[in-house]
Amino acid sequence: MHLEKLIAEMTAITDADRCITHPDNIKTFLEDWRGNIKGETPIVMLPISTDEVSSIIKLCNTNNIGVIPQGGNTSLCGANIPHSENKRLEIVINTSKMNKIISTDIHNQSMIVETGCILTNIQDHAIENGLFFPLSLSAEGSCQIGGNISTNAGGVNVLSYGMTREHVMGIEVVLPDGSILNDLKGLRKDNTGYDLKQLFIGAEGTLGLITKACIKLSTLPKSYCSLMVAVKTVDYAIKVLKSSKNTFTDRLTAFEIMSSSCIKAVEKYLPNHRIPLDSSNPWHIIIEVSMHDNHPDNNQILSYLEEEVQSNNLIDGVIASSETERNDFWKIRHSISEAEKHHGKGIAHDISVPIKDIPIFIKKTINKLEDLLGPSNVFVFGHLGDGNLHFTKSKPKTMEEDIFLEKSHAVNRLVHTIAESYGGSFSAEHGIGSKLKDELEFFSDEIKMTLMKAIKKTIDPNNTMNPNKLF
Ligand SMILES: Cc1cc2nc3c(=O)[nH]c(=O)nc-3n(C[C@H](O)[C@H](O)[C@H](O)COP(=O)(O)OP(=O)(O)OC[C@H]3O[C@@H](n4cnc5c(N)ncnc54)[C@H](O)[C@@H]3O)c2cc1C
Repeated sequence: MHLEKLIAEMTAITDADRCITHPDNIKTFLEDWRGNIKGETPIVMLPISTDEVSSIIKLCNTNNIGVIPQGGNTSLCGANIPHSENKRLEIVINTSKMNKIISTDIHNQSMIVETGCILTNIQDHAIENGLFFPLSLSAEGSCQIGGNISTNAGGVNVLSYGMTREHVMGIEVVLPDGSILNDLKGLRKDNTGYDLKQLFIGAEGTLGLITKACIKLSTLPKSYCSLMVAVKTVDYAIKVLKSSKNTFTDRLTAFEIMSSSCIKAVEKYLPNHRIPLDSSNPWHIIIEVSMHDNHPDNNQILSYLEEEVQSNNLIDGVIASSETERNDFWKIRHSISEAEKHHGKGIAHDISVPIKDIPIFIKKTINKLEDLLGPSNVFVFGHLGDGNLHFTKSKPKTMEEDIFLEKSHAVNRLVHTIAESYGGSFSAEHGIGSKLKDELEFFSDEIKMTLMKAIKKTIDPNNTMNPNKLF
């Protein structure tokens, strides 16, 4: 279809101001969060209803046009960016205008939301209703629930509450032919055949565009106790993880590790952050315990901290004495990616390995990367309690940027091969997108790939939804 005719038909579906075609206005939709992956498209659509989404996708499907679903644009693997490979036209459907909270059921502890709801708005609305939505990640002020579901996002509370998949009771999704699959009943029990919503969770928009979701809420903790502690080595961090699991059992909701390079970068580039411990301590950990009793036993936390210091597991530690101090701890953790960006170019990884193998994984990977690229800062942080680390090798000072970036593929393969050699994963929570397509093909079992491609072909025979991602 000729572009002018396509724009006229798209404008007939939405108003003209929600069919964006001016290159200056389109720019912001064409770059991933790190600014490494850039795309192109002549059209960005901003629908406000499921029916509009359905009409747009139907029009694309019948005219051989690819559709890129886009939420808050915080993907770290280019999953949300159009590429127009092979000169096939791709358009973006950005869901930011579908941002209503539709209903909250305090008895069922559930909420029905439109796909474009920003994660913090959902968290806040749950609290206003005396409930809790446990999904929490550094991009929560920008990312949207549709993006969270489509990436099966993890975050800082997985240890106790699980990944996004655990919080989804139902979805409404527009399929590649424009038809609408509605499964928003929010039932806790419904064994009526295949649980189809599971296919769309973590599918990165390759099977359909999620327009609404029924999400599961949890009981709101009465209070939190947050500690920031420092340890000499990752082996000690694992000891502390074990002892805190034994002491706090299922009340332990977060256990986040940060290397001193991360803390120093936050200290240097984001000076409005208060760093409570000496930033040169080799490893820092945020431990968070959620309390559900009216009168929590704070002495238990204090004696835990004292015992761990006395047994030399910890170098130092501090307990947040107020909500402000707790927020200060989390502000540091949530700002690491931002600080990394200020530091300069880096090659980032999101791996998981069995917890017991994390110390050897880190040591081996740092050494091998130094052999390959020379010495430079390595930022290591993440969800130690889930065996998931974010691991970035930054550009050596003397190396030219293009030479460094040319080595991305070799660096990725090296890090991912080491992770896989310990029975780990090369993509723990960020997904595949366009960045890790080669790695998926290389590391995946043949039968898994055949099944995934068969599912894609069955649901999306014209390859309309998010083409050139995953495969
Ligand atoms: C600083 C920072 C920290 C992060 N921390 C974490 C973390 O701790 N854990 C974690 O898991 N991730 C993390 N991420 C990655 C990212 O924030 C998450 O993957 C998030 O869930 C993406 O949501 P989004 O709305 O921005 O989606 P986008 O980036 O817009 O899209 C992501 C993918 O979802 C698809 N998609 C979006 N909306 C829909 C829809 N309605 N229907 C179908 N497909 C759709 C897109 O096509 C794309 O494939 C982080 C990102 C940043 C920038």
